[in-house]
Amino acid sequence: MAERSESDSRKLLRRLRDALAESGRGQDRLDRITHLIADSMRTEVCSIYLFRDEDTLELCATEGLNKAAVHQTRMKLGEGLTGRVARTGIPVNTANAPGERGFRYMPETGEEIFSSFLGVPIQRVGERLGVLVVQSKVAREFSDDEVYALEVVAMVLAEMTELGAFTGDDGALGPLHRQPVLFRGATGQEGAAEGRVWLHEPRVVVTNPVADDPLAEIDRIRDAVGKLRISIDDLLAAEQLDKEQKQVLEAYRMFAHSRGWLRRMEEDIMRGLSAEAAVEKEQGAARARLEQVPDAYLRERLHDLDDLSNRLLRILTGQGTDTGAAMPDHPILIARNIGPGELLEYGRKLRGVVLEEGSVGSHAAIVARALAIPLVIHAERITQEALNGDAILVDGDQGLVHLRPEETVARAFRDKIAMQAEAQKRYASLRNLPAQAKCGTVVHLHMNAGLMADLPSLDGSGAEGVGLFRTELQFLIRNQMPKRAELAALYARVMDAAHGKRVAFRTLDIGSDKVVPYMKPNDEPNPAMGWRAIRVGLDKPGVLRMQLQALIRAAAGRPLTVMFPFVAEHGEFIAARRAILAELHREKSLGHIVPQKIEIGAMCETPSLVYAPKAFFELADFVSVGGNDLKQFFFAADRENERVRRRYDTLNLSFLTFLERIIARCAETDTPLSFCGEDAGRPVEALVLAALGFRTLSMRPASIGPVKALIRQVDLGEVRAVIRAAQEAGAESARPALMDWLATQKV
Ligand code: PEP
Ligand code: MG
Repeated sequence: MAERSESDSRKLLRRLRDALAESGRGQDRLDRITHLIADSMRTEVCSIYLFRDEDTLELCATEGLNKAAVHQTRMKLGEGLTGRVARTGIPVNTANAPGERGFRYMPETGEEIFSSFLGVPIQRVGERLGVLVVQSKVAREFSDDEVYALEVVAMVLAEMTELGAFTGDDGALGPLHRQPVLFRGATGQEGAAEGRVWLHEPRVVVTNPVADDPLAEIDRIRDAVGKLRISIDDLLAAEQLDKEQKQVLEAYRMFAHSRGWLRRMEEDIMRGLSAEAAVEKEQGAARARLEQVPDAYLRERLHDLDDLSNRLLRILTGQGTDTGAAMPDHPILIARNIGPGELLEYGRKLRGVVLEEGSVGSHAAIVARALAIPLVIHAERITQEALNGDAILVDGDQGLVHLRPEETVARAFRDKIAMQAEAQKRYASLRNLPAQAKCGTVVHLHMNAGLMADLPSLDGSGAEGVGLFRTELQFLIRNQMPKRAELAALYARVMDAAHGKRVAFRTLDIGSDKVVPYMKPNDEPNPAMGWRAIRVGLDKPGVLRMQLQALIRAAAGRPLTVMFPFVAEHGEFIAARRAILAELHREKSLGHIVPQKIEIGAMCETPSLVYAPKAFFELADFVSVGGNDLKQFFFAADRENERVRRRYDTLNLSFLTFLERIIARCAETDTPLSFCGEDAGRPVEALVLAALGFRTLSMRPASIGPVKALIRQVDLGEVRAVIRAAQEAGAESARPALMDWLATQKV
């Protein structure tokens, strides 16, 4: 077989394009294409296998194999040589296919007489669509040049498949992006929502994979790469880049200046691809290669290269992120990842958010929680599948996403939403009633907040106040340190909106999972146990002082409640308290009005504080248990680590015994105590906390109704008795006994 020249390649691509331009059914086009490729590659066989579902490939057209096998022969991902190409995204080239490890013989195709096999993936930017195979009787390996030529052809097929060239009403091939797809991700924030897809970064659509004038295309790609390099240099020259942003941009610059990258794209163009298709081909190939690499650092670089390729595509096509499309009603945002500031900008317009990446403690998750919209994270490949305007159901409780759902699924889902709405109505009727248990004990329910946008929930939810106002968000969503006046204005608005209800402002808790771009601490091996929260506030008091001044000014004579996060020992609390008293003194001497009354509390988030000297409990105006952190340190199980974060039950009796110790320490000195971690918002956990003796719980606004409803139906003394019995029986957790008991209570 002769070496294929560049002009042969171009000729074939032009013939393919012409074949595709002709009218006809999708199947006819596929048939014509296999014929053209076999003819041009001078092989007896050319077959196209496409994905039928996530892990099944189907022979969709062939020249040379038994035609009766078309739409009959199917194989699983990884099965046989074709399945291997589909799984790895890497070509298989062999002179002796039957002798290859993993070869699977498909008798219905009649392929046993063909010895040589070359299969290349049909993929578009990492989206695997199928496999293109050529086979011949002569036992020979295909040359590098032939492999390359077939990859270029496969690229064009991928673009054409994407554009719907092979779908038709003959039902031969299901249309892409029209079938229902289920994504199994993880819960970022509970809740259910139905809406329409809104892509944060719409995909670039390439409509011209084949180009006639390679030299003109080479000019285009060089020009675009030039612009890309300048734009990266501009970004790098920008001020206020932190170390990590700088590293990413340096990696971008390295790729953008890589000669190999540009050279490969130019070679693709010489084979007949347009500049855009060449970018996508290299993007897809790099993904396939890097996906095989287990190294996390290299995989990060894959993302960098992806981003860079997308930027280049946008330069080439002129398609910005704003496509001019109107946002649909009930938008559900789909993104690979999103920053907290960007998410806040969308704000309450959104019904839900689905991310390919993200984590439970990420800034985006914090914002989604504040916006009270369901969030599903780790929904892999959804940005590839979803199109703007697609129908979508987000099940934040289960971490599931139904894209373009079947009507039956949608109906069942709507029932679920209706049931939740029904329950909300029931809770609303309890809004003005106390969370008073049958035994008469009243539990005070407060809400957690972190944004101005949370405040309307104060009235709607029936919360008695804000038990935890996280002040990090204002620092996280900006790329510069907020000014004292801005913070004072915001805190004043929060107090105004609270209409005299108590708001416990927690001073800045950065470090750990909450990293402020302009204040990034040095790389720490274990940031959750590192230089964070009050530790930063005491060591570098500038920001803490500025924040305390803003709070004092915002109060403008009203009562003020401040609590310090992550206090691990008495001395830290003394120092933090001294800082606030010093600011009060200073503000007074400057002639500012100081708060009428000030409450200064500490968050108990490390086990050490439970054993602090009595003097600590006497000095603190109140203690609030930050259960999220306290639990992670009690069990030594990272709250961010999916592997272990659910491993230990909050109702584990060792933990409950420990919580009782905190209650006893506070009772000794009459120090008011509350609990403000996520567990306070889980009805069964809240019930147990109340039974142990917590009289104030602070939770997400949406949890107040369900928690109140449950507390009102039970006698806390009975709950206590169930816990005691479980303890005496030597149980690990109080949960099983409690669930059995609740089942008998008809709650
Ligand atoms: C906690 O740790 O329980 C808490 C309320 O603080 P955060 O979740 O912000 O760390
Ligand atoms: Mg905490």
